[in-house]
Amino acid sequence: MDTANVGEEMYRFVTDLFPICRSITGKGVRETLALIQKHTPLDIHEIPSGTRVFDWIVPKEWNIREAWIKDPAGKKIIDFQNSNLHVLNYSTPVHATLSVEDLKKHLYSLPEHSDWIPYRTSYYSSNWGFCLPYNQLLTLPEGEYEVFIDSSLEDGHLTYGEYYLRGETEAEVLISAHICHPSLANDNLSGIAVAVFLANYLSKLSLRYSYRFLFIPGTIGSITWLSLNEPKVSRIKHGLVFTSLGDSGKFTYKKSRRGDTEIDRAVAEILKKSGEAFEICDFSPYGYDERQFCSPGFNLPVGCLMRTPHGEYAEYHTSADNLDFVRPEYLADSLSKCLAIVEIIEANRVYWNLNPKCEPQLGKRGIYSQIGGQTDGKSQELALLWVLNLSDGKNSLLDITERSGLKFSAISSAAQTLCKNGLLREHSNG
Ligand code: ZN
Repeated sequence: MDTANVGEEMYRFVTDLFPICRSITGKGVRETLALIQKHTPLDIHEIPSGTRVFDWIVPKEWNIREAWIKDPAGKKIIDFQNSNLHVLNYSTPVHATLSVEDLKKHLYSLPEHSDWIPYRTSYYSSNWGFCLPYNQLLTLPEGEYEVFIDSSLEDGHLTYGEYYLRGETEAEVLISAHICHPSLANDNLSGIAVAVFLANYLSKLSLRYSYRFLFIPGTIGSITWLSLNEPKVSRIKHGLVFTSLGDSGKFTYKKSRRGDTEIDRAVAEILKKSGEAFEICDFSPYGYDERQFCSPGFNLPVGCLMRTPHGEYAEYHTSADNLDFVRPEYLADSLSKCLAIVEIIEANRVYWNLNPKCEPQLGKRGIYSQIGGQTDGKSQELALLWVLNLSDGKNSLLDITERSGLKFSAISSAAQTLCKNGLLREHSNG
């Protein structure tokens, strides 16, 4: 992978997506999916407002054209055209004149970061409002203000995108990213970009698993997908939710609710051997769509891959989560970690040593020389011995990797060498 180039391409994609005013429904979601479609052949699903999905109802569709506040002198002081974060997401339409005191009941700002615009939503309770820098809030003079929000909240659809990549088996890997945030780069245009570029890479490989990529609005999107696809859910063997993958922070992996699944161990393995700082935390019922995938009625093996977690960076959910906050090199690094994780789950199998009584003589088979010339010849040799010793039909290559402390790639290539030489065969589950 040409990391520098891919990073730039991913960053350009994030830049294209950035200006769109997204929400959990509406035109912004459709525009976003249309841009994703230029890279990945998505199926677009439109679910009507009012559809019951478990304990929830698909909400009315929200669209917005214009929004502003004029001060007592008639000067526009807040304009949606300048930043889509200025409008409380899902604001009902309004056109009114009101005093500064009454206006302030509908204004949101961040005293601790007085130049930033906060991102606020009101999806499930009817409200209108504006978000602005605290410094600007302090300057508002007494008098009558005119407010205008030209939005609509009507029966329509919830829209989401799905890309299914058929592999050798029906067993699936689920990758999910939320697409409901407006001009916010790390949360979650970064996650969308990593998912899209991962899908592109995987589409060129021959794969053991089938891969399902979901581009869905947060919470209501995963609830809707699970509700409509319940019979398919048992095919999901591994899954990851992608978010906040473009900032400079260290990787953070939040484990699945089960905590010890193959995906949990594969991610841990990649992060541990990366030589970089990282953090692995236990599941908690707070965060992104893993909350739904890991609800007790599903309890799927789905974790959440991030760099800096939500709420642990000041820029989170503010106008400072912008195109300067994410960088091409971090996007590319996130993608390459994801590819390494996929490599593990694709190659992780259980084998039988066909010569289990004492060590086979590797020298006479020329196996050492077959892997000669490699800089880490010693660890290749160790990998052969570990694979032979632990391949008793019980230990997977990931088990052997963890126990040996070697890299998965070394263990996996040792297994391939031994298979070619008739010393190992795959353990069949059937
Ligand atoms: Zn968010």
